Amino acid sequence: MLSKLLDFLFPPSCPICKGPVSDHGTLCAECWNKFNWIGDPKCCVCGYPFAANLDLGAHPLCPVCAAGQNELDWMRSACVYDEWSRNIMLPFKHASTLKYQKIMTRAMIASLREMETCQKIPDLIIPVPLSYRRLWKRGYNQASLLARPLSQHFNIPMDVNSVHRKYRPDMGHKNAKQRAENIRGVFKVVRPEAVKGKTILLVDDVMTTGATFAELRRVLKRAGAAAVYGVAFCRVVRAI
Ligand SMILES: [Zn+2]
Ligand SMILES: [Zn+2]
Repeated sequence: MLSKLLDFLFPPSCPICKGPVSDHGTLCAECWNKFNWIGDPKCCVCGYPFAANLDLGAHPLCPVCAAGQNELDWMRSACVYDEWSRNIMLPFKHASTLKYQKIMTRAMIASLREMETCQKIPDLIIPVPLSYRRLWKRGYNQASLLARPLSQHFNIPMDVNSVHRKYRPDMGHKNAKQRAENIRGVFKVVRPEAVKGKTILLVDDVMTTGATFAELRRVLKRAGAAAVYGVAFCRVVRAI
């Protein structure tokens, strides 16, 4: 009764174009179709999308994973980082716009549906940490806002205390090598006993070069983590 009244007073609308939709927090078909959602075929390890007309068998591998150079032990992203997904992501990251949170987490949950075929289901979810300085300035960690609904959906505890991040100036427009150098040593596992022997799912809003994920995996593995997975709402897809 109350929800019907609320729907009447505040009819559900698409958070992007404000057009009518049937449920709160969903996109209209037109806006939905503008995303470059990652489906099959994709790399079975890192989720790198392949051209739709390629038949690569049941367990396709991208050249990076085939060479054992993957940043994480397993990884998925909901969509490709392009002009359209950036429209959603940038306000989410910088202007405390939370209206897209539901869309993003729903899409991330869908992208993780193959997680049950992994050797191990994660024991812990860790959002990619922000430094205190940045957290203080922004007021929230956007990765935590995405990780919390995932933690609830999969019933996997979220841990925001075991890894700290030092402040470093923005990575802005650096190339892959510079980003990797800039991120090296910024994370510290402050509670190694919490991650030892655990399979961990890292959560972030976007994966650009993968340097952040790779560095987190390095320190978590050194602290004794068994495996490190990751999920991002969108990822940069370069030709490989
Ligand atoms: Zn729309
Ligand atoms: Zn791959």
